[in-house]
Amino acid sequence: MENCRDKMIDAMFNQDVYIYFYIDFAHNKWYLENNPQFTDFCMSEKENPIESILKNERLITEDKDKLQFFLNKLKTENAFSRNDKYIKIQFRMYNEDRNIIWYEMRIFPHFIGSGNISDVITGTFMKMNERDIKNRNILNFYTNDKNPAIFADIMAKRIREDLDRKYAVVQFDVIGFKFINDKYGEATGNEILHHFNDVMDLYCTDDQLFSRLSADVFMIVLPYENISDIYSFLRGLEAGMSGYKGIKYSFAFGIYLVEDRTMPTRLMGDSAGIARAAVKGNALENIGFFNKEIKATLRNKRTIEERMKTALKNNEFVMYLQPKYSISDSFIIGAEALVRWIDPEEGIIPPDSFIPVFEKNGFVVKIDEYIWECACRHIRNWLDNGIKPVPISVNVSRVHLADSKFVDYLNSLIEKYEIPKNLLELEITESADNINANAMIKLAKVKGFRLLMDDFGSGYSSLNTLKNTPFDVLKIDRSFFSTSMESQRGQKIISHTISMSQDIGLEMIAEGVETKEQADFLYNCGCNAAQGFLYSKPVPEEVFDKLMRSEIESAANTAE
Ligand code: C2E
Ligand code: CA
Ligand code: CA
Repeated sequence: MENCRDKMIDAMFNQDVYIYFYIDFAHNKWYLENNPQFTDFCMSEKENPIESILKNERLITEDKDKLQFFLNKLKTENAFSRNDKYIKIQFRMYNEDRNIIWYEMRIFPHFIGSGNISDVITGTFMKMNERDIKNRNILNFYTNDKNPAIFADIMAKRIREDLDRKYAVVQFDVIGFKFINDKYGEATGNEILHHFNDVMDLYCTDDQLFSRLSADVFMIVLPYENISDIYSFLRGLEAGMSGYKGIKYSFAFGIYLVEDRTMPTRLMGDSAGIARAAVKGNALENIGFFNKEIKATLRNKRTIEERMKTALKNNEFVMYLQPKYSISDSFIIGAEALVRWIDPEEGIIPPDSFIPVFEKNGFVVKIDEYIWECACRHIRNWLDNGIKPVPISVNVSRVHLADSKFVDYLNSLIEKYEIPKNLLELEITESADNINANAMIKLAKVKGFRLLMDDFGSGYSSLNTLKNTPFDVLKIDRSFFSTSMESQRGQKIISHTISMSQDIGLEMIAEGVETKEQADFLYNCGCNAAQGFLYSKPVPEEVFDKLMRSEIESAANTAE
C-alpha cells in the first residue's frame, strides 16, 4: 500500500492546493490532510512531514541544512515568539523533469490557556506561485542587491500605512567580514551570507521584512511594542546566525526608531547604518540606537556634502607632504601626498572626517585627481628649479579601481607636466575581495607605475593578496608593528614578514614610526625606510621644500 509519506510528496507535486498537516511533538504524532479535494487523513507515529521531505531525494541538497535547522528549531521551546502568527520556510525540490520547484511551508503556533505555546503545531505546504518566487528573489537574497528600490517601496508602504504599530529599522553587518573572505575564501564568505539569509527566512515573520542591501549589510523592518522586544528579537537572530561551521564572527546592529513616518526610507536606513557604524568601536555592546550625538555626526556629514564642491573650487583642499626617510642615514627618500581641507571658518579638517564620506558619494575621485595634479606640479617645480627630486606617492582610493579611467588620467598628468613616471608612485589599499580591483592594479603596473601596498597588516591587506597582485613596495601599517613589538612572538612575525618580503623582491617602508625604538627595531629586521612623526608630520609644500634644502645644505657643510 502506498504509504503516507509518498502520498504527501505526490500530493505536493500534483496539486496546487494547500496541504494541511498537524504535528504533536509531545506524543510524536502527526496527521496529514489533503485539503480541500481530499478528505484523506493519514497518520504515522514515526516521522513527521518535515522529516519526510528531508529524506526525499528530490529535495535539493543546498536546502537540506536549512530544513533540518527549521525542524530543530520547531522542537525547541522558544521556536515562536509571542507576536508570531506563523513562521515559514521556503525550499526547493526537483520535479520529474528535474526542474526546480519552490515550496513554502508555514507553521502556526497554538497558544494554550496560560499564554504558553502548546506542543501541537499545524502547518501548510504549498507550491509557490510565480509572483511569490519573484518577490522572494527580489526581497531576499539572490538578486536583491540589484533591486533595493523594490524593498524601499514595500518598506515605505508598510511604515506609512500600518499606523497602529511602532516600527524600528535595523541594519546589521559582520564586523570585519573582509577578514573572513581573506581567511576562509570567498566561497565560504558567500556560504555564510546565504546562511544568514536562511536563518532570517526562518526567523522573520511576514511582518518582519528583511533584505540584503549590499555585501554583508542586511536590513530588517521590525514592528515593536517595547525596546525589549527589539533586543530579544536581535539576540535570537544573532544566536541563530552565529558560528556557521564553527567559524567565529560577530555582528554590529544599528537601530533607527521611526518617528516621522514620512521621512524618506533611505534616510531611515542611513540613520540605522550610522548607528551600526558607531557601535563598531564598542567592545561591550553590539546593538546601538541612532541618537542625538550621532545625529550631529550626520549633520556634519550633510554639511560636508553641501560644501565639498565649492570648497574644491575655492582651493580649500590643499596638498601636504609627509617625508619618508632612510633610517640608516636620515635622508629624505620620498614623500606621501596627503590632502587637508582648510576651511576658512573651521580651520584644518583632517581627512579621516571627510574621505570616508567622499568615498561613499564618489567625490573622492575628484579630490584624488586634484591631489595627483598638485603632486605632479610640485615635481615639475623641483625639476625646473634644479632641485634633485624624490618620488611622491599619492593615494588611490578604491573607488578608482572600478575601471581603467584612472590609469589614463594619471598618464595624461605625466604627459602634461613632462615628468618621469618613476617619480609618481601609487598607494593602494588592497583587500582580496575584488577581482576587478586586481585587474586594475595589474593594468597600472603594466603601464609602468610603481605600486605601494598601503596599510599592510592592518587587517585589510594580507599576505594572500600579495601573491596575486604585482606590488613593488609593502607599506607596513603602524598597527602591525606597534602592537606586535610588545611580545617576542610578535617581533618574530614582523622580522619574518620582512625577510620573506625581501625574498620575493618586495621593497618595504614602515609608516607611523613614532619612536627611536621602533625605528631601530625595524632597521634590525631589515627595513630601512620609514615615515612617521619621529621624523616629521605631514607639512605644507613650502615647509617640505625647506626640509629638502636644509638637508642639501648640511650635506654640503659636512663635505667641506
Ligand atoms: P594613510 O594613507 O595611511 O596615511 C597615513 C596617515 O598616517 C596620515 O594621516 C598621516 O598623517 C598619519 N601618520 C603619519 N605618521 C604618523 C605617526 O607617526 N603616527 C600616527 N599616529 N599617524 C601618523 P592623515 O593625513 O590624517 O590621513 C588619514 C588617511 O586619509 C590616510 O591614511 C588616507 O587613507 C586618507 N587620505 C589622506 N589623503 C588622501 C588623499 O589625497 N586621497 C585619498 N584617497 N585618501 C587620502
Ligand atoms: Ca597612504
Ligand atoms: Ca597607510
